[in-house]
Amino acid sequence: VTKADASEDRSLRASYEDVGGLDKELQRIREMVELPLKYPEIFRQLGVEAPKGVLLYGPPGTGKTLTARAVASETNATFMHVNGPEIINKFYGESEARLREIFETAQRRAPAIIFIDEIDAIAPRRTDVIGDVEKRVVAQLLALMDGLKNRGQVIVIGATNVPDMVDPALRRPGRFDRELSINPPDRFGRLKILKIHTRSMRIDSTVNLEKLAQMTHGFVGADIAILCKEAGMNAVRRLLPAIDFTAELQEEELAKLTISMNDF
Ligand code: ATP
Repeated sequence: VTKADASEDRSLRASYEDVGGLDKELQRIREMVELPLKYPEIFRQLGVEAPKGVLLYGPPGTGKTLTARAVASETNATFMHVNGPEIINKFYGESEARLREIFETAQRRAPAIIFIDEIDAIAPRRTDVIGDVEKRVVAQLLALMDGLKNRGQVIVIGATNVPDMVDPALRRPGRFDRELSINPPDRFGRLKILKIHTRSMRIDSTVNLEKLAQMTHGFVGADIAILCKEAGMNAVRRLLPAIDFTAELQEEELAKLTISMNDF
């Protein structure tokens, strides 16, 4: 399994603290994913099937990947990232084998989360005009999910911006039978996300995060992340002329450098 199509990258850890404005959603995902991963014995004891698949849907950049990563990190589970379009296109002709390999690896390294981004690319409605490859890949994915005999030790999280485009066969019991919408943040959510992304930045007292939260109507988490990064770069550019490149920076000069409201 190459890094490009199914990476397990421990350096990309995230925690629940990194996810803003999705408290209710996190609560639900913890029940659906964290609980069975951490305490499979509860499900065993009760003779209850743990969820195998959870479908996250919502607009791009709202934190679907981030949320999946956070649950994996918090549960110390192996995180396997599968990019839907890539597995269809890049490995044309060997997509099913790739999928089998990914599922095998996940089972070997359980507890594990297989995250399939843009799952609609792999599993579009079979009634739509799609090629044979897609049909075979959907069938393979269904077979692999049906074959997961564990009680919650491998959980597949699918993400899509277009839930209606996902093959209904995938959404039946025992497959992706839990769904969770991840929506763009409201003002309070944006404030929380702004706090997260300015956490390690040296912002000064001119920066009014409440005001920024108000001004960023329509922004999703990914937009806010970029906004904060750019504010940082703007500050660097603004401060550049004040720096004397021939001399070493003095501690007190450094201490004066901050990011202010105008940089946003
Ligand atoms: P896509 O559908 O495009 O894959 P996504 O919903 O998976 O988007 P992410 O990849 O999780 O979105 O978000 C991209 C980046 O935006 C994250 O790494 C994070 O920096 C920031 N971000 C998005 N949503 C949030 C959030 N709710 N809280 C904090 N940061 C967020």
